[in-house]
Amino acid sequence: MRVYLDNNATTKLDKDVLEAMIPYMTEIYGNASSLHSFGREATRGMNESREKIANILGVSPKEIIFTASGVEGDNLAIRGIARAYKNRGKHIITSSIEHPGVKETLNDLKKEGFEITFLPVDKDGVVSLEALKDSIREDTILISIMHANNEVGTIQPVEEIGKIAKEHRIIFHMDAVQTAGKIVLKPLEIGADIVVFSAHKFHGPKGIAAMYVRNGVRLGKLITGGGQEGKMRPGTSNVAGMVGMATALEKAVKDMDENIKKESELRDYFEEQLLKNLPEIVVNAKNVKRLPGTSSIQFRYLEGESILLTLNYKGIAVSSGSACSSDDLQASHVLLAMGIPIEFAHGTIRFSLGNETTKEEIDYTIESVIETINKLRVISPLWGEFVDNR
Ligand SMILES: *Cc1c(COP(=O)(O)O)cnc(C)c1O
Repeated sequence: MRVYLDNNATTKLDKDVLEAMIPYMTEIYGNASSLHSFGREATRGMNESREKIANILGVSPKEIIFTASGVEGDNLAIRGIARAYKNRGKHIITSSIEHPGVKETLNDLKKEGFEITFLPVDKDGVVSLEALKDSIREDTILISIMHANNEVGTIQPVEEIGKIAKEHRIIFHMDAVQTAGKIVLKPLEIGADIVVFSAHKFHGPKGIAAMYVRNGVRLGKLITGGGQEGKMRPGTSNVAGMVGMATALEKAVKDMDENIKKESELRDYFEEQLLKNLPEIVVNAKNVKRLPGTSSIQFRYLEGESILLTLNYKGIAVSSGSACSSDDLQASHVLLAMGIPIEFAHGTIRFSLGNETTKEEIDYTIESVIETINKLRVISPLWGEFVDNR
């Protein structure tokens, strides 16, 4: 049996989405910037996709900019704001659990004289609103806080953050890559000025993402060379990708309630079974609002890498820490920020369910995880030490 439980890293392309894209990769191959009929057909596909996405978010199509990835969108948002508003101030507030697309971009901006405040989170990964209010200064130009965290699934109090940002006339950028298509995402209700999301996280194609930029918010340009995407993201339009993204989002939103129910029920059953059968495990962010399909678990006194590889051998795909940091063995900055001791952070595994995950797959995973943990603990010196000192 092969079980894919790494849907926070990427998802499988939906068949209907592929079908909607094929014409734009075959007959409708014109350049969307060309004035002839070949180009116009492509333009139509692009415009319709932009409208569909804007409608779902409840915003204007003019406020949607397509990019090639979520990381690119985060960069364009943060660097774009930094460039456009640096005369007003050079202070930016963020959380200590952001995706590298935000975290590393902000760290890079320090070289240009920007000061970054990294807000603490509590043990469940929730940003402190008090700390946010206290950190606001005269020269604060941007608050960048994610909607939901990719590693533990915690959903942030974004409406409150939006309100605080608005009161102080500070731009609020929200990385919503983990929430678009999974939970309700309405930028106007949240009060977010820039929202970034990416197609491949909701069964769309890789290589296409989008951002909402509220009318009136200025962004400095990062690339030049054409008029596409309001000159903010020049380069020949990836129309097939846009059509795929719009189709995928439409479908995800249509099936959202059903998917939330199904995934959270399976996730809760999964966690309940593991908690019942394994000692010394902790489910992260269990008692706060979190993504329906995300389960982050500390298997104490073990190394996450050995759990991941043993499960992989059994055909089960999971992630230890963040997918983006899987090639270096540094403990996840998210788990450390939540106050999890480094040795337990190293033993944490993320299981991320998707809309195709079945009860059979979860039962097989439960059985495999229990077997794996028990086997690995027998040979784990950390576990031996723990048992001896108990
Ligand atoms: C996956 C992810 C990104 C990056 O999106 P890409 O399209 O893969 O570049 C950014 N932020 C979060 C929270 C993510 O989960």
